[in-house]
Amino acid sequence: MRVLLVEDEPDLGTAIKWALKQEKYVVDWAQDGHEAWEYLQQQWTHYTVGIFDWMLPDIMGVELCRRLRQRQNLLPVLILTAKDRLQDKVMGLDAGADDYLVKPFEMEELLARLRALQRRSPVLPRQQLQVGPICLNYTDRTVYCQQADGRLEPVSLTNKEFQLLEYFMSHPQQIVTKDQLLSQIWEMEVEVGSNVVAAQIRLLRRKLAEKGCSDFIETLPSMGYRVHSIYAK
Ligand code: CA
Repeated sequence: MRVLLVEDEPDLGTAIKWALKQEKYVVDWAQDGHEAWEYLQQQWTHYTVGIFDWMLPDIMGVELCRRLRQRQNLLPVLILTAKDRLQDKVMGLDAGADDYLVKPFEMEELLARLRALQRRSPVLPRQQLQVGPICLNYTDRTVYCQQADGRLEPVSLTNKEFQLLEYFMSHPQQIVTKDQLLSQIWEMEVEVGSNVVAAQIRLLRRKLAEKGCSDFIETLPSMGYRVHSIYAK
């Protein structure tokens, strides 16, 4: 799940980004509307949800939202704002926002709103992904591997391993290239070496193998990676 966070207050932006990353979201943080619009127009990055501050120094959060809807872009958007008058809320929702959170708020509430958005948005993945023996739960961000006797064995993953696995499980029939993984799973501001994808996949495979699923991700030489065809339906 990749989030575009647009917030011009450095302290709040830092706090939100940190909280989201703890929940295993991939987060790009734009500090003004122009930067955000640039990110949104880059076709190679697909966001799952947007968190836009209403009051930004240039393009307002509601305007970003309006532009997306004009282009038939259904990205679920949560607007953050200090405005809590009814007419502001109506204006935000009319601009196409899916939800609206008034500052100041507790991080727990923001995270709960994101989960709620995920539950009701037709464009977001459901609460749970199941591919073959692997089950990924969005509500508590856990992963289980089903054993031959039906038991569910928990798999403890780092944030990056979880994000990788989630990407594969959301695209179970696709061949996924290294570049695709770099642009979807790594944040824009992070410089990564060329071996990092292969190294992370190795670590993920090892953890799945420890729970009895050694062949979940297969390598297709000179093409990329894919959920093993015995599991992808
Ligand atoms: Ca602001």
